[in-house]
Amino acid sequence: MTLDLNPPSPVSPAVDFDADGKQHGALRLPWSRDDSAWGAIHIPICVVRNGDGPTALFFGGNHGDEYEGPIALYDLARLLKPEDITGRVIIVPALNYPAFRAAKRTSPIDGGNMNRIFPGRPDGGITEKIADFVTRGLLPLADVVLDIHSGGKTLDFVPFAAAHFLADKEQQARCMAAAEAFGAPFAVRMREIDAAGMLDTSAEALGKTFVTTELAGGGTATPETAAIARHGVRNLLKHAGILDGVPERQETRWLTMEEAGTFAASPADGLVDYALALGDEVRRGEPVARIIPHGSTGAAPVTVTAPGDGLLIGRHFPGLVQTGDCVAVVGSLDD
Ligand code: CA
Repeated sequence: MTLDLNPPSPVSPAVDFDADGKQHGALRLPWSRDDSAWGAIHIPICVVRNGDGPTALFFGGNHGDEYEGPIALYDLARLLKPEDITGRVIIVPALNYPAFRAAKRTSPIDGGNMNRIFPGRPDGGITEKIADFVTRGLLPLADVVLDIHSGGKTLDFVPFAAAHFLADKEQQARCMAAAEAFGAPFAVRMREIDAAGMLDTSAEALGKTFVTTELAGGGTATPETAAIARHGVRNLLKHAGILDGVPERQETRWLTMEEAGTFAASPADGLVDYALALGDEVRRGEPVARIIPHGSTGAAPVTVTAPGDGLLIGRHFPGLVQTGDCVAVVGSLDD
């Protein structure tokens, strides 16, 4: 099957989305540049299909410095056998491939932040063209969409899968059930700071069952977080009825992230000294970290306090912060 997009996309998929079996291919996007005048970006893609059934669409590397998604999805693409599934699995392990190769959150080509430019444009920059192909080419093929994120080089999180508060409560319930089935230690009901431009928002607007994650961070993966991602993708395929079996459930604790009471930003530039570790319980107004001014000795640290009651589920990662950096994310616990 060719995707007949109107207006056409400059991205051409070197896979047949309707063929049974397994294909390792690429999304090819022309990229003319100094070292390759008629060059192209080849974004790896794998399509595994076995007859009719639901379609799962899995992304890693939306941000190029987050590694649990690519680790789990390169593995899944290599290991998943067509005879193991009913339906179709489309795997894009490193969606912003130029950013992934550069180990950067954003594209080194055009500075594009993939998760802030959806739905994209077929006539825009490189990153917008990729987003547009996802929006008009890939998302419509899917029933269940998973976009695996982690904190990247500047954030760290307790490992969680998440679904958003949505106007359509039936869709919201589907998304939350899928987030729980992913089987991370935590699941989060989430309202974004600014949902515009996110892959999430485009997938949800099409009525898809959408799950995102934050699986630790710091610009690397650990054995624990990689295992959560590997189990999660298979759990979600089982939940969708694509892979046989029931999701391997561990205890998942539900948390809520709403705008008020969730985020605390640094009021100053400085050296960050955390009083709490990820996963610690905290009450509103209690100190989470001190920001130590480093321009001269003798200046008093500034204390950042918890914006709400709950668990510290996200924090800044490197040792230095700038004014406005996200220092603390607090998720409220279900009673
Ligand atoms: Ca991310």
